Amino acid sequence: MIILKIGGSILTNKDSSESEVDAGSLERIAREIKSSLDNSFKELIIVHGAGSFGHPPAKKYKIGEAFDKSEFPEKRIGFCETQNAVKKLNMHVCEAFIKEGLPVVAIPASSFMTATNKRITHGNLDSFKRYLDKGFIPVIYGDVVLDDELEICVISGDQLIQYLAVNLSPDEVILGTDVDGVYNKNPKTHDDAIFFDKFSSLEDLDTLEGTTNVDVTGGMVGKIKELLYLADLGIESKIINAEVENNIFKVLENEKVKGTIISRGN
Ligand code: ADP
Repeated sequence: MIILKIGGSILTNKDSSESEVDAGSLERIAREIKSSLDNSFKELIIVHGAGSFGHPPAKKYKIGEAFDKSEFPEKRIGFCETQNAVKKLNMHVCEAFIKEGLPVVAIPASSFMTATNKRITHGNLDSFKRYLDKGFIPVIYGDVVLDDELEICVISGDQLIQYLAVNLSPDEVILGTDVDGVYNKNPKTHDDAIFFDKFSSLEDLDTLEGTTNVDVTGGMVGKIKELLYLADLGIESKIINAEVENNIFKVLENEKVKGTIISRGN
C-alpha cells in the first residue's frame, strides 16, 4: 500500500486569494499515476492539500482558534464555507483522475472524522480498506472537522497522512510538494539553503519560519512534525518535488528521485 500526498502548492496557486486550479499540473500528475498503475497494480491512497481553496476562508473565520460561544454562528458558516471550498478542489482533482481512468472515490474527513484540540481522535478507516479491496483509490483531503474541545478545526492533508499511516501501516508514504524536499531554510527565499537527503530532527532547521502567508496548517514545519512522528514509529516517508515532470511516476516505480527521506535513523 502506498499513501501519496499531492500538496496544495502543486494543485493551486497557494499565494492567491482566488480559487484557481493548476489544471496542467493536475492532468500531468493524473497521467503519471495512471502510467505507473498500468505498469503494475498498486494499492494507492491519495491525500491532497487544500491549497488556495481552503486557506482563505479558514483564515478569515479563524477556524480552530479558541472562541466565545457567542461567536459560534459566524464560525459555523465559516466552517461551511471552508468545507465547501475544499470539496470544490476535490471535485476538480477527482474529475481529472477519473478522466484519466483512475477509479478514485472521495472520502471527506468532515464526514467521518472528529478531533480533540486540532488532532484527529476518531475516524474509522474501514471504508478505506473496503474500497481498496474492491480496487478503488480512496481520496481524502485537507478539511474541517468537529472538535470536542474547540467545536471545529482545520485538519491538514499532512495530519491526514500521519493518521492514515499510523492506522493502515502502508509500505510507502510519499509527499509531493513544490520544492525538492527539506532544506535548512526555505529554499524559495534563501538561495544558500542547504538540501537534506535525509532529515531526522527539527533542530537541523536554521529557521522555523512558516511557508506561505495564507497557510493556517503549519506549512513545511507542520509537515515535518507529522512525518517525524511517523519516523518514531518506524514509518519512513519521502518528500519529493511533484512539479518536476515524471517524479511522481518514477517514485511510484521505485526509481531514484531526488527528495528527502524523513527517518530517525542515520
Ligand atoms: P504543500 O502545499 O505542497 O503541502 P507547503 O506550501 O505547505 O506545501 O510547504 C512547501 C513549502 O514550504 C515550499 O514551497 C517552501 O517554500 C516552504 N518551506 C519553508 N521552509 C522550508 C524548508 N526548510 N525546506 C523546504 N521548504 C520549505
